[in-house]
Amino acid sequence: MGIPDRNDDSGRNTSPITGRLILGILIALGALFTYFNNSQENPVTHQVQHISLTPDQEIRLGLESAPSMARQMGGEIHSSDPRAIEVSKIGQLIISKTEAEKSPWKFKFHLLADPQTINAFALPGGQVFITLGLYDKLQTEAQLAGVLSHEIGHVIERHSAQQLAKAELGQMLVVGVGVGASGDQQSNLYDPAMIAAVANQMIQLHYSRHDESQADIWGLKLMTESGFDPHAMIDVMEILKAASGGRGGQIEMFQTHPNPDLRIEQIKAYLKEHPPQPGLTQGENLNS
Ligand SMILES: [Zn+2]
Repeated sequence: MGIPDRNDDSGRNTSPITGRLILGILIALGALFTYFNNSQENPVTHQVQHISLTPDQEIRLGLESAPSMARQMGGEIHSSDPRAIEVSKIGQLIISKTEAEKSPWKFKFHLLADPQTINAFALPGGQVFITLGLYDKLQTEAQLAGVLSHEIGHVIERHSAQQLAKAELGQMLVVGVGVGASGDQQSNLYDPAMIAAVANQMIQLHYSRHDESQADIWGLKLMTESGFDPHAMIDVMEILKAASGGRGGQIEMFQTHPNPDLRIEQIKAYLKEHPPQPGLTQGENLNS
């Protein structure tokens, strides 16, 4: 008889807040456990990465989102167009001559019709895009190889999938903190402030500075292995820098690593340390 009384008291006074705090901690711990438990060895680099998607899921995600990405930039230029053929030819050449060939990724190279936007990007799993705006600014096949190789680097390193796993972890931590901190019975998981925080994280999903430097190095490696002079990557940086008024703006290759001059310095330092073999080519001239 005394026991139900005690339960009633403690239940009425402390349970809602303590319960929420415990639930919040459990959500946060669960999110951390999931993130660190989702370890996969990269099929190309053999580095262990925290990624929740399988390679097949990444490929499917890329294929499914490719049409809508293309629509946002003027749609895809028909594969019979000589410029689209050129993009595909250089892309496939790089794949066929490098370790990208042995990766599980299904590479496909698209030229998008938007003449104003200067950009290139890659979806997870191997869908790579370049806009006509950027293509028109490139002078040689080696420069085109530079752009495509950088994007192939992001795919090989699974940067999108890595960022996605980090974003998922971030969202769940936000939810956990929100639940734990709210003693108010009225608030819940669908609190507008919390939804706003989660949405904000999704929008900000992009590569890190480290990812960009890594993609640059991959770019130089893949260019060299496929016979192109990697110094053309410096031309690419100069072209993008000039096109964006010196700061990079929204161009993928500069988005989170916006200092073109620093990137050029890093590229020069890498080429000094890894001098390319003689006989590498600039390829044909484009737009001639
Ligand atoms: Zn990039």
